[in-house]
Amino acid sequence: MPTYTYVCEQCGSKFEAFASIKKKESGWRPECPQCGSPETRQTYTTVTVIADPQSLPVGGSCCTPRKRVIR
Ligand SMILES: [Zn+2]
Repeated sequence: MPTYTYVCEQCGSKFEAFASIKKKESGWRPECPQCGSPETRQTYTTVTVIADPQSLPVGGSCCTPRKRVIR
């Protein structure tokens, strides 16, 4: 079952909740485990993409332009 991250509008706490896609599409929202408020909304955690060092060109710099920038 997919996990969704929700944030509480009342107390601002973030929590994860499980829900089936069907359940979610029906407008289901989890209650805040902190304050019990149903005023929660789904949030998308920003995943910081850390470049895999092995995917970097050997001996190259991270700042080396690899594509021609057309301005
Ligand atoms: Zn809350």
